[in-house]
Amino acid sequence: MHMVAFYNPSPNGGIERTGRTADITAPSARYPFEVTLHQGAIEAIFLDSMRELGLEVDRPIIPTALELSHDENELRDPQSYPVKVTLKHLDFGSEGQDDTEIVYAKFVVGADGAHSWVRKTLGIIMDGEQTDYIWGVVDLIPSTNFPDIRNRCAIHSSNGSCMIIPREGDKVRLYIQLSDKDVVVDKATGRVDKEKTKVGPEELLEVARKSFSPFTIEKAGEIDWWTIYLIGQRVAQKFSVHERVFIAGDACHTHSPKAGQGMNASMNDTHNLIWKMTYVLRGWADISLLRTYEFERRKYAQDLIAFDKKFSALFSGKPRTEECQDGVSHEAFLEAFQTFGAFSCGIGIHYSPSSIPSMPNITELKHQSLTSHQTVGMRILPHVFVRAADARPFEIQDLLPANTKWKLVVFVGDIGPGKIKQIERVAKLADDLGKSTGLLKRYEDGVFEILTICATVKECLNYTDLPEVLRPHWSRVLLDDVDMFGRTGGKGYDIYGVDPSQGAIIVVRPDGYVGTVTPLEGVKDLETYFDTFLIRTL
Ligand SMILES: Cc1cc2nc3c(=O)[nH]c(=O)nc-3n(C[C@H](O)[C@H](O)[C@H](O)COP(=O)(O)OP(=O)(O)OC[C@H]3O[C@@H](n4cnc5c(N)ncnc54)[C@H](O)[C@@H]3O)c2cc1C
Repeated sequence: MHMVAFYNPSPNGGIERTGRTADITAPSARYPFEVTLHQGAIEAIFLDSMRELGLEVDRPIIPTALELSHDENELRDPQSYPVKVTLKHLDFGSEGQDDTEIVYAKFVVGADGAHSWVRKTLGIIMDGEQTDYIWGVVDLIPSTNFPDIRNRCAIHSSNGSCMIIPREGDKVRLYIQLSDKDVVVDKATGRVDKEKTKVGPEELLEVARKSFSPFTIEKAGEIDWWTIYLIGQRVAQKFSVHERVFIAGDACHTHSPKAGQGMNASMNDTHNLIWKMTYVLRGWADISLLRTYEFERRKYAQDLIAFDKKFSALFSGKPRTEECQDGVSHEAFLEAFQTFGAFSCGIGIHYSPSSIPSMPNITELKHQSLTSHQTVGMRILPHVFVRAADARPFEIQDLLPANTKWKLVVFVGDIGPGKIKQIERVAKLADDLGKSTGLLKRYEDGVFEILTICATVKECLNYTDLPEVLRPHWSRVLLDDVDMFGRTGGKGYDIYGVDPSQGAIIVVRPDGYVGTVTPLEGVKDLETYFDTFLIRTL
């Protein structure tokens, strides 16, 4: 989806288009559009990839009991097995077959959805509330004269609101606002009582027809899938117990699907947790690093829900018309849409500083001014640089994959001919990094990767001009320069807000977020930073 269209009540009755704009409004989005692919297909990508590594998801199995040790020493030791989980195999039906399995685990992650058994078993409370907003969803191939059917649309009509999400092939998803008269809610569960509710896919389409007027919409063929839901906006009070049993995804947070962030946020939860858990399991990091999971992801979930509350209220509110002057105006909705654009495209994540426990002398923000456009705590900005050895252009995010390594992105500044002072500073940096008990030697092998970026044009620099420690491989030196045809690249130092006469080191975490920034003379600060959570081998 590249474009979004807005519709509001027309003075002549029905709806009319009040604007079209870019779907993605966050300037730092590498891909300024959204891709809609149904969840089953996305899950299949993960399952296939796991299968290639010899991993299968076991189904159908449910947990029936979970016990966590109270022994402090056991809980602190990452190599202990303090969690006992009893599992029941639902497909073990034959006589005499024991359907129970006991698993002793180092860690347990409950990614078991909005009604999480793990969360309830741990007694974790959800903060927040159910809203009165009731929506229906239908997936169909439409037959329509509506001109924006292949764009994302927000329709505010006097009959209720509607959102259009164009999907794979000719399919379209319609989100249709319902009134509480249409739907029976089970007071005990707070969920739609599907037995007593008389609304089905045909009724949903009938509501949509009225909201689309004067345009027409009919189904071409069968309705693929439909549902009705109430929006609940809740966040779990805790995301873990003793950093040994965690919950992730919908088990931790639920909100409306309007911004398309539920699964995205859920995947980012586990992406945040898993590199940390990998470090702890490998014995590379102190177990206290796992505390940052809840610190970072709960704050994000709260921010997302604050956004969702505003967005849902505007979406579900009555539109402004002659008769309803208090209603939601096109301008107010558009402003909210654009202000919160970073959330809708999933790059609004901003982790707070000092989430690493016991950070003593420096904070991650001490040298933030050296990269005035690259915020510490946010994802590294996308930009194209040219490789020094062969002038091939590369998007920097492709060179910083989530491969469990920390990346030191060293902006060495301009070290071209005659830049003696800067060349000396870079040589000193290389000495500091290469010391026998220095940053690159004091932890497990393979924790760091170096990427060096020079503010020098290709005619004036060989990759071999750099000290060896800053070019561990010929491919790891980039230039802030355009490609051979001037089509892409250049102005990278401006993008990150780095002064070429100063330089800076940007530390990128294994999940692609910037951990901290230091000057070229800041190796001591880096050592202090990493010593707080990485385990030294020297
Ligand atoms: C109508 C609608 C539209 C949506 N659109 C979007 C969108 O466009 N973009 C987006 O990012 N998100 C969207 N979402 C949200 C998204 O579907 C969820 O946020 C996401 O599925 C959460 O993933 P999860 O793994 O945490 O939980 P789930 O996907 O719910 O997975 C939980 C799993 O745990 C299993 N399980 C549960 N309990 C047990 C148990 N006791 N024992 C064994 N297994 C158990 C379940 O069978 C399931 O396989 C939408 C949701 C809805 C309802």
